Formats: sequence, structure tokens, C-alpha cells
Amino acid sequence: MSYDGRTRVVIMAQPHADAVDLVMRDLPALRAGEALVKIRYAGICGTDLHIIGWNEWAARSYKPPFALGHEFCGEIVDLREGGPFRIGDRVSGETHLACGNCDQCRRGRGHTCENLTTFSRLDRGSFADYSVVPVSLLRKVPPRVSDQIGAILEPLGISVRCVREVGSEGKDILISGCGPIGLMAIAAARGFGAQRIIAVDPASARRDFALQMGADIAIDPNATDVVAAVRSATGGRGVDVCVETSGATPAISIGLKATNRGGALVMAGLPPRDVPIDITGQIVLREVTLRGVYGRLLDQTWIDTERALLSNLNVDAVITDTFALEDYVAAIKCARAAQAGKVLLQP
Ligand SMILES: [Zn+2]
Ligand SMILES: [Zn+2]
Repeated sequence: MSYDGRTRVVIMAQPHADAVDLVMRDLPALRAGEALVKIRYAGICGTDLHIIGWNEWAARSYKPPFALGHEFCGEIVDLREGGPFRIGDRVSGETHLACGNCDQCRRGRGHTCENLTTFSRLDRGSFADYSVVPVSLLRKVPPRVSDQIGAILEPLGISVRCVREVGSEGKDILISGCGPIGLMAIAAARGFGAQRIIAVDPASARRDFALQMGADIAIDPNATDVVAAVRSATGGRGVDVCVETSGATPAISIGLKATNRGGALVMAGLPPRDVPIDITGQIVLREVTLRGVYGRLLDQTWIDTERALLSNLNVDAVITDTFALEDYVAAIKCARAAQAGKVLLQP
């Protein structure tokens, strides 16, 4: 469609589950430091599904109506004071908007800025034909990276960071939870030279994806003693690193037990409530590091991800389904199912 100052956009219309709607909206006038992006693909994220499902966190954090979607690849069609960007540039988007002035920002930790806001809170949305995006969030998509992969650079960055943060080269790694973040973490761990990669997920389709993405073994936690299976696969030691992406309480406990002394548990999943952990037995006496990962390092993770994609990281297989924007209801249903990897919308 051509640009007339309006756009189709999927919104959360009401404060209850599945109250999504595709509406026509006026785009806000471009301000200095903003770009108008014509969206080519948008990724459906686990966060979007939490919002659409209107869980407790979403109800606390958002006030409908607001635009949905934050993962995208698009083309700049207009901009005001665009810094290094030009009309025609192919771009993806960071979602953490840092203030640049606080103590965290001055320490080079913009991703945990004290005044952090996120693209999702700007009511712009990427499930749309067009979106107005602050230029500071835009990242150029390298020419050899496809539009589809360009649309998932943001979640891929989380996976890359999870395996980079504690090192993966030559290590045995457990990936707990094989949704898109876990699946891309498998590929990233492989790309960064992990030795043995063990995946855990209760859904058989996801275990198949895990093997396709480069896992050596994929374990069903409902049928197998995961800790025993991990020990037997690692000469009795346990893994050096567990990347936990599910946020499920039993998975966190199993991940800790399956991690060797001196190893690390990297948490990217978001447990909905407090999780009981044996700090003495599992963390202190075994010197296991518990590490949270929230978003991407600005901009080191983008650089790491781009370099990996241009050398030996391949995540094409994680994108399993693409829907037209108007088929957003079917796309959301598909993204919720355990048969899907990453689901894209195409305006
Ligand atoms: Zn996301
Ligand atoms: Zn800040």
C-alpha cells in the first residue's frame, strides 16, 4: 500500500485476553530524530503473547488501546534528523530506549538504564504497514542478511548474548526450553564453538527443531530424568552452562542440578513469581553463577550477532510460519502452538 499518513496496525483494543484488532490509524507526525519505517516483516515475540493473553504482568504494565509488536525489518521511507540513516536503508530495531545520562548509561549499561523505556511502550507497533521509530533504536540490516532474519535480530540478540555472556567455546551447554529463544541459543552455541549441546523441552516438535538447530541430544523432561541424562552425556560432570529460557520453576531447579560445580545458569526466561532455590547447596557450596540476561548490550550484542550471521551462524530454520498482516488472529494462534518456531507477519 502507498503511504498517505495512515497505517493499518494491530492493536490491543481492550484490557482482556485476545482483545486484538486490526485498525486504521493516523501516523504521528515525524519529530526530529524519528524515522518512518515501511515494515516488511514483523516477528511475534513471547512478550506479545503474554500481552495478548493479558496476564497479570500485562495488566499491571499496559493500558489499552495500544499498538502491538516490536520486532521488525523494514525500509526507511522518511526521516527527520536521521543521524547516520538515509531514506531507503533497510533497518531492524533495538527495543531498549536508554536515556544516555543516568548512572547505568554512563557505565555503558544502557540496556538496564534507570529510566529505561521500550519500543512497546511508545504505542507505535510493528504489526503494521508503517511505524514511526526513534532513530536511536534503528540498526542497519547487513546486505547479506535476509528481510526475514532482519525481523528477528532483536530476539536473536538475546540468544547470542545468553551464550556469549558466560562463554561457550569448548563447553557443554544445556538449553532449557526450546521456544524461539532457546532454539536460536542452540544455533548460537553451535556457532560459537560449544562442545556438547543438550536441549530440554516437553514438546516433541520443539525437540525435533532443537536437533535441526544443532543440538546433540533433545530430552523430554516428562519422560526422562533430565539430571541423570545430562550427567551420563557429560561423563558424570554435568554441563558447564545452562541457558534457561522457559521460566518454569521445575526447569530452573533441574537446570541448576544439571550444572557442574563452577558452572553458570543463565536466566533469560521470566518466572511469573518467586522461585525457591537451594542457595546453600546449589549456588554457594558448588560455586555456581546465577546470571540474568535482559535484552542486548548496546551495541556490542548487535555487532556480535551481525558478525556471527556473516560467518557461521544460521538460524533460517527457526522461522517456521509467515502470515499476511490481516491474518494476525491465525498467526497468534500459530505462535502459541508448540508446533511453531518463530512466526512472522508480512504487511
Ligand atoms: Zn521480542
Ligand atoms: Zn539511562
